[in-house]
Amino acid sequence: MKLIDILKQKKPSISFEFFPPKTDQGEANLWQCIQELSPLEPSFVSVTYGAGGSTQDRTRRIVERIKKETKLEPMAHLTCVGSTADNITELLGNYKASGIENILALRGDAPEGSSTFQAVAGGFSYATDLLEFVRQQQDFSVAVATYPEGHPESTGGVHDDLTYLKMKQDLGAVAAVTQYFFDNAHYYRFREAADKMGITIPIIPGIMPIANYAQIVRFSAMCGASIPDWLQQKMQPISEDLDSTKQMGIDLASQQAQDLLDQGAPGLHIYALNKSEASKAICKNLAI
Ligand SMILES: Cc1cc2nc3c(=O)[nH]c(=O)nc-3n(C[C@H](O)[C@H](O)[C@H](O)COP(=O)(O)OP(=O)(O)OC[C@H]3O[C@@H](n4cnc5c(N)ncnc54)[C@H](O)[C@@H]3O)c2cc1C
Repeated sequence: MKLIDILKQKKPSISFEFFPPKTDQGEANLWQCIQELSPLEPSFVSVTYGAGGSTQDRTRRIVERIKKETKLEPMAHLTCVGSTADNITELLGNYKASGIENILALRGDAPEGSSTFQAVAGGFSYATDLLEFVRQQQDFSVAVATYPEGHPESTGGVHDDLTYLKMKQDLGAVAAVTQYFFDNAHYYRFREAADKMGITIPIIPGIMPIANYAQIVRFSAMCGASIPDWLQQKMQPISEDLDSTKQMGIDLASQQAQDLLDQGAPGLHIYALNKSEASKAICKNLAI
């Protein structure tokens, strides 16, 4: 089913994000996770797209297998990294032939070792370019990313992100999924500003259950998600104890998600990271 139709359903969407594992064992773990999350009947599940070569093939393989072997509706992430328009055309043709209907169109990050993103010759510079191309090629429902705290490269702050989100909507994006954040005030402010700019597509908040505090601190510094003082005060003292961290991560993500739903968020996109435990516990806490 196309995302545009999924999102017309009255209840908030629930989705899980996976990544393509690098090893056979990792892939077995992912399938175990998918089996464990399937009974929750998520609205869709998404699979990230790596920085090049074999990881991109793995995304395709996993997305196609989800479509073929499960009842879940997959959304394939797609980035501009390392791909020409011809590469993208071929991939989209394969997706179409396999019945894949949903794409998350992204720019992607610079590959490891380079500090800035460089479009390849014959490729795309921004998610807006990729989105426009995908929409012209085939009849996919295309979602995009957005950043309630601002993308780290946005020189004009959140205003830039709102401007480009409006552009993405005008180019045919049917929904936006946000970078994770820990303070819902960022999302509410962003949503209000988006509303004033005429952005009407659902802005689905991304939820990151913390399992390893040190890792989250490192990753958040790179992706521009701030760590509020209250979160640091709760997490730092227990950060060496992974079981307590995981439980606290589930409790905090559940409270955050409940507040978002209470305040009318159109759905929740949970960064499951190929593990089912936190996503299952959050859904149980929310009675989903
Ligand atoms: C939900 C979600 C899923 C993700 N999945 C993946 C994944 O699978 N693989 C992966 O590699 N990365 C993924 N990312 C990370 C993402 O690729 C990076 O954050 C990347 O740096 C920006 O991608 P974007 O699509 O937001 O880019 P863009 O929207 O192109 O924005 C990039 C920068 O350029 C600016 N900009 C945007 N459009 C224009 C324009 N038309 N003209 C001038 N400036 C512009 C923006 O302000 C921003 O600073 C994901 C992020 C999110 C939030």
